[in-house]
Parts: sequence; structure tokens; C-alpha cells
Amino acid sequence: MKKRLKQNKKLEEIILQVAEVAQYLWQKGWAERNAGNISVNIDHLIEGDLDDISQYPDFELPEPYPELNNKYFFVTGTGKRMRDLARSPLKNALIIKVTNGGCSYHIFSRHKRNVPDFRPTSELPTHLSIHQKIALRGSSEKVVIHTHANELVALTHSPDVKSKEIVNNIIWGMHPEAMVFIPKGVGFVPYIIPGSVDIAKETLKEFNDHDVILWEKHGVFAIGESVFDTFDSIDIVSKSAKIWFMCKQAGFEPEGLTDKQLDELKETYTSLNK
Ligand SMILES: [Zn+2]
Repeated sequence: MKKRLKQNKKLEEIILQVAEVAQYLWQKGWAERNAGNISVNIDHLIEGDLDDISQYPDFELPEPYPELNNKYFFVTGTGKRMRDLARSPLKNALIIKVTNGGCSYHIFSRHKRNVPDFRPTSELPTHLSIHQKIALRGSSEKVVIHTHANELVALTHSPDVKSKEIVNNIIWGMHPEAMVFIPKGVGFVPYIIPGSVDIAKETLKEFNDHDVILWEKHGVFAIGESVFDTFDSIDIVSKSAKIWFMCKQAGFEPEGLTDKQLDELKETYTSLNK
């Protein structure tokens, strides 16, 4: 597989992009300890089967993902740190293939590793259910990123910010870029224990209408066509929240863009982004 990876320049490029974004997440203070996870659908980059030197058994998934059967994903490892991923992506993330009609997955590794220490992120059910949704609707997103963006976590702790409408008024109102690049606004999932099938289901519902979803008191999930685009969406939304807090910290209520200004942005830019 080592040889295969080196031969596959496009896959190598994607892995380096994941490492670069992992570094950004760490530098921004959004990735304490082993926080956050990234998955990329790399199926279009794999020709034939990868060489399998891992000889791991298949691992059962909590629910089936039939649309993903035989598809390959690059996913961060459970318990792995973003700062380590940035330096050594292949030691801290892994390639999996969904198998057995979508009921299990197989790990591919450059080296034979200690299986209990080298498994995909515990948020794998959420990631796979999102990738399955993308496959079902036939859209082109390939990347899912989850991170603990401080400003967005803080925003959802505000007792005044408990609905999607209020969240989006803040996100759009604080920064013109948010309306330009996040015209669908962000989704909002009230607190549910992470790693559960329930949070995956609620998150999926929100992805019907949005590409960036806030998890109350926890973090953010986003999808995009490239690793960098997906990171940029989170960065823009986070910047809006940061500006909102900066105004509050300075002792004044932010004025926010007016409805007229937002309408003008929508009219000018949403057609360009289609
Ligand atoms: Zn998390």
C-alpha cells in the first residue's frame, strides 16, 4: 500500500490537505487533545482494490450504509490528535473500505498496527451517515469536518441563542462574507450525546437544508467539495460569531447588517455562487 499511495499523487495530495487543515484546527485552538475528526470520500481516487497488508478483520457498523458499500474513505483515527495528524497523517488517520453491503468496514494500513489503538473516529456513524446522504442525493461533496470552534460553541451557550433563526441572524448579520459564502445559513442541533446514532439522525435532517451544522454546546460539522472549502465554511461562520462577541466585549450591542443590506448581498452574490 505504501507503494500504491506514493503512486497515487491525487490521493497523496488529499492526505496532505487533511494534514494542513488539521494544523489550522490545532492553531485556532479548536482541537484540544483528540478533539475533532475529518473524513474524505476518496473512492474516485482508488483504481481497483488497494493492496491489503493489514489483514484486519472487518468491523461491524452500528447501522448499515448500503449506498457506501465498497467505497473508500480516509478518516481520522479514534483518540488521535489533530496536531499529530498534521505532522504524520498516515499514523493518525486511516483508509477504510465499507464492506458487506454497508454493514461493516475494513481497515487498510501502511503498517500492521495494534487494532484497539488504530480504529476510525468514534464519530464514524455520523460521518458515514452524512456521506450516505450525499450519495443518495447525488451531490458532489466529498469532505466532512467536525471541530470544536470556540466561538461557535460559546455562541450556543448563550441563553439568547437557542434557535436556528437567531443563530443565522447573528451569522449573516455580523459579516457580509457569511451571506456570500454561506447563503443557506447554518443548521442547529440541540445537545445530544456525541457519538450516538441519535445525533447522527438529527444532524442528517439539518443537512437537508445546510452545509454547516452547529451542535449545541459542542462544536460544528460541515461538508464541502474539498478539504479547504469545508474548513473555509467553518472559518467564515466562526468569524461572524467572533465579531458578535467582540462587540459585546467592547460593551455595545452589535448593529448587524440591515435587512436591506442583506437582501442586496443575496441578490448580488447568491446567483454568482450557483
Ligand atoms: Zn466533538
